Amino acid sequence: EQEVAEYRKSLAIRVSGFDVPKPVKTFEECGFAPELMRAIVKQAYEKPTTIQCQALPIVLSGRDIIGIAKTGSGKTASFVLPMIVHIMDQPELQKEEGPIGVICAPTRELAHQIFLETKKFAKAYGLRSCAVYGGMSKLDQFKELKAGCEIVVATPGRLIDMIKMKALTMMRATYLVLDEADRMFDLGFEPQIRSIVGQIRLDRQTTLFSATMPRKVEKLAREILSDPVRVTVGEVG
Ligand code: ADP
Ligand code: MG
Repeated sequence: EQEVAEYRKSLAIRVSGFDVPKPVKTFEECGFAPELMRAIVKQAYEKPTTIQCQALPIVLSGRDIIGIAKTGSGKTASFVLPMIVHIMDQPELQKEEGPIGVICAPTRELAHQIFLETKKFAKAYGLRSCAVYGGMSKLDQFKELKAGCEIVVATPGRLIDMIKMKALTMMRATYLVLDEADRMFDLGFEPQIRSIVGQIRLDRQTTLFSATMPRKVEKLAREILSDPVRVTVGEVG
């Protein structure tokens, strides 16, 4: 335990929460199936970034997480890889409808980047991802969602529109990501986030990532997540 503490310190990782899994040093230690390992190798990701070293074992263990690390630190794979594992673990994968993984991001551009990253790993298993944000006709988006998918990457406003139009149901959703939570707050998406969260089962796993953690975002996180582990990498405001 002392050794783990020293190791975290050497990587500028700070954690809080009970029974925090220890950081990994390699992707191999994460126990990913060969299909997913191949997809990781194909991305030329040699080893996990610092946030990934600590976030991956936490999220893979099923825990909720508040992950705080600066832009460019590799937060996306910290929630996308465990999401793929989570989806493949669902016994009812073939039954019911609607996404299992739901990712919310503040802007079209960010959602699109996440969507591209998600597709790289989702295709290892033929999982379907849908991008749900402005700039595409609502009718086209409606049709795409109706065709079915396991993963949705969305901006909050458009996702709510699609739920209202009954383009998708949240019945099957058990893995929720709130990415760039600070920016979603700055853009005034708190009511939309609360509405989306309110429609997702309480037995979900929830992950929240941010470059900074203002008090009001921390408060929302504490309301939405259950027994989260909080991970901070480096000096963040
Ligand atoms: P953040 O969300 O923290 O701003 P991203 O997830 O967008 O960061 O990652 C930043 C860049 O680092 C992306 O181009 C991504 O493909 C790359 N990246 C992520 N993880 C790794 C890794 N383990 N090894 C090498 N590159 C990585
Ligand atoms: Mg990001």
